[in-house]
Amino acid sequence: MEKSVKYKRIVVKVGSSTLTHDNNRLNLRRLEALTRTLSELKNSGCDVILVSSAAISAGTAKLGLSERPRTTMEKQAVAAVGQTELMKVYSHFFDMFGHSVGQILLTRDEIERKTAYENAENTFNTLLSMSCIPIVNENDSMSYAEIEFGDNDTLSAYVAKICRADVLIILSDIDGLYTDNPRENPSATLIPRVSEITDKIRSFAGGAGTNRGTGGLATKIKAAELVTSAGIPMYIVNGENPEIIYDITDGKQCGTYFEANSDNGKSTGVL
Ligand code: GLU
Repeated sequence: MEKSVKYKRIVVKVGSSTLTHDNNRLNLRRLEALTRTLSELKNSGCDVILVSSAAISAGTAKLGLSERPRTTMEKQAVAAVGQTELMKVYSHFFDMFGHSVGQILLTRDEIERKTAYENAENTFNTLLSMSCIPIVNENDSMSYAEIEFGDNDTLSAYVAKICRADVLIILSDIDGLYTDNPRENPSATLIPRVSEITDKIRSFAGGAGTNRGTGGLATKIKAAELVTSAGIPMYIVNGENPEIIYDITDGKQCGTYFEANSDNGKSTGVL
């Protein structure tokens, strides 16, 4: 692959529905393709930060539970098991492609504090200067309703801002933002480019996603609002084939592109 000239620092967010099968087990074929693609971007000179869900799904499968946990206490415990499993698999694949990873687990209340925000910023920058790939998730084992992000779309927007990324790429289980739910309405059309997030755009997002993810499109639009207002563009693309990321870095049209608000430089400081 040619060196990506379009974006130097890239945050990629991938959700549980893309990373796991219906039985909650990890989709290793997709994880292999994702880690190979991100490793190649790294080889081409990009800084790569991965925001990955699927701790709770991986823990559910590892513990042989018949369904995902429902109570906070169970979720916290199952996430502790699943996060270990997830990092083991990421570490294995990235290692195979010659790259080191570092785990960063965040909670919302932490990075809303100036010192903790600055600490996170320093850790990301130091890991990147050591040529590592930071892998981020919410610290689900320590999170509860009052302090949580609750979804990794929002978390990935915070991470893009902390790292002063050049782009946020959200890998989803849908091709992008449609004018209506394409699974229910065959005449729904894909919106290739959003220059401003209006109420109409918000109304296209609808409700929640699959039973394995927590986001859906509404949280992705919220993430787009956060990053574009900070001068960072965002894509929603289908993560079924992670090589779609090459199309983005090669400057090809794909998924839905949210233009950065050009009035704002990349913002700094606490969110
Ligand atoms: N942090 C959760 C996990 O790793 C997922 C949150 C989300 O689906 O956005 O399982």
